[in-house]
Amino acid sequence: MRSDYTVAVIGGGASGVALAARIVESLPAGLSTANVSIALFDAHGCRGGNAYAADTPSNLMNTTGSAIDGGYGGDFGFLRWAGENSDKWRPLLGDRTPNPCGYVPRPVFGQYLADLLEDARRRAPDRGMQLDTVAEEVVDIAPPASSEQSYCIRTASGARFEARYIYLAIGHLPRAKTEDYQHREHYYHNPYPISRLIEEIPKEASVGVIGSRLTAIDVALGLAAGGHQGTVTCVSRRGRLPAVRADQGKYQFRKLEREQLRKHLRYRSARLRLADVAAMLGSEIEHAEGRPVALGDIVNAPASPVAYYEHEIRLAEGRARPWQAVLYATNRNIDLLWHHLEEEDKKLLMSEWLNDWLTYRASIPRENAERVLALMRTGRLEVRGGAREIRYDDSTRRFNLCLGGDDTVAVEFLAAATGSANRIENADSTLTRNLLARGLVRSHRFGGVDCRFETGQVTGRNHSGADSRMFALGPITSGVYFFTTALEIVHRQASRRAEDLAFMLGVDWLDLPETEEWVDARQRVSGSRPVKPEVPSEGAPDLLERVVAGDQFDLIDFEQLHLLNDQISSGELRRPDPEKAG
Ligand SMILES: Cc1cc2nc3c(=O)[nH]c(=O)nc-3n(C[C@H](O)[C@H](O)[C@H](O)COP(=O)(O)OP(=O)(O)OC[C@H]3O[C@@H](n4cnc5c(N)ncnc54)[C@H](O)[C@@H]3O)c2cc1C
Repeated sequence: MRSDYTVAVIGGGASGVALAARIVESLPAGLSTANVSIALFDAHGCRGGNAYAADTPSNLMNTTGSAIDGGYGGDFGFLRWAGENSDKWRPLLGDRTPNPCGYVPRPVFGQYLADLLEDARRRAPDRGMQLDTVAEEVVDIAPPASSEQSYCIRTASGARFEARYIYLAIGHLPRAKTEDYQHREHYYHNPYPISRLIEEIPKEASVGVIGSRLTAIDVALGLAAGGHQGTVTCVSRRGRLPAVRADQGKYQFRKLEREQLRKHLRYRSARLRLADVAAMLGSEIEHAEGRPVALGDIVNAPASPVAYYEHEIRLAEGRARPWQAVLYATNRNIDLLWHHLEEEDKKLLMSEWLNDWLTYRASIPRENAERVLALMRTGRLEVRGGAREIRYDDSTRRFNLCLGGDDTVAVEFLAAATGSANRIENADSTLTRNLLARGLVRSHRFGGVDCRFETGQVTGRNHSGADSRMFALGPITSGVYFFTTALEIVHRQASRRAEDLAFMLGVDWLDLPETEEWVDARQRVSGSRPVKPEVPSEGAPDLLERVVAGDQFDLIDFEQLHLLNDQISSGELRRPDPEKAG
């Protein structure tokens, strides 16, 4: 295996695989892609990442087959793959078949990801590229000494690699342990794989779960499916379960589709207030519902978890909940709304409304909600709010879950279902610790790493956006893009990064002495052109506009850029023919 690459993608979950596949699929064929080599590093060997790794089939996706195909995977569609690979999902699905309206177990999607990657790896040589996977944890990345040089990557085994461009797709980072109880036996800091809990926790044992969202539901349903008979108690501050998903329709915004919104917010300094966003979404919800809707119609009044789920399941049964389709449609614009929000409103949203957003946006399929309700009715599952503190009692060897006053639940086993580290300085990751220490990345005030909104270029103390050839995508960019944990969103990010890479490789190519003469000759022929478009518009064929939007116009001479852009957008960036160029 080689040790120097054009591109290194760190992380082989849904984000990293989408990026590698998009690079292979979408770079223009020809000179810019000749000798482009990609290394995809994953500590666990690109087996579905944290979300879709091999595990119990009770871990269901919350995205239907058709919604996956609408937003992820490009030409290598999930449903088509499922149709051709029944041997891969049959053991997990039995008699059922993946279909446009159904929710498959997440490990099935993990198998699809592995095949998507393999397909890209096989196709790469036809396009003049090489795609390798490296099953290693990356522990450090040293910056290049000059703009000519590459980043130096070090893995846990001590191996060293070089790459000119780095993409951080490191996903959901585990939180570092900070509490005494987290070091005790019978405590699971990471509940995945759930199959390990099923194997190790005695069937009659009492189990506590910190959290009451999607991961907590994975734990409760996984244990029950594995034959666990003891009580499971989920505790969180508010004790709220996620909303229940109705038939997943697709909503077309009247006024908030990405291009419309970009026109509305055409100036980068344009600012939105939270009330504006609420009014815009409220108006779309009323349009979708075909009636006036008050917030109280959607946000249920606090009720017991059993009453809440009875109500939610009734509402989701056999009918659409149009407001849900509107919330899912925000996959297409949520980053823009967030980016243009006033700073004080961002703070307000994070401190007061984030929990509600997650409760209603990240809902669960009805079939899983019915299982949760059945467990609650038999008393095998309890969901409690008011969680304050967790203590380990050495004399009883129990974890005490303190819910305020004298209300304490003692459990023998405890699993954390609190999600990943929001702030990177709290993450248990050698790589991010080293990148922070080197000043190559910095923590974003709202979570993850700081990067430029337009390009994902990572910014650090010693690493300014303009110089950086290090980019980020996926959940690690949550502070910049707000909601990043959806396949459609990570796929869009991957497509944008691949498109930008095509441009940057083109710029690199322009620097080669052998092309300079050819470009100069073409410039003389093409004559002068307008330099700066008035309004940058995303998605337009002209990549120049993207560069202008990203404030990168110092990168290169504009005439050359126009020429290069023409070549890229026509898909004909090829090695120049010296005779014609003359
Ligand atoms: C439990 C769960 C269920 C979800 N279900 C859905 C769903 O049904 N539908 C949906 O649209 N979205 C879902 N999501 C959202 C999900 O986050 C995204 O869809 C997507 O999986 C994010 O992928 P990722 O590759 O960025 O992150 P991850 O899945 O976290 O993968 C990151 C990968 O990077 C690797 N890595 C990290 N650090 C290093 C390092 N230093 N060196 C090498 N490798 C490293 C890790 O080993 C891991 O494999 C779910 C998320 C979770 C956590």
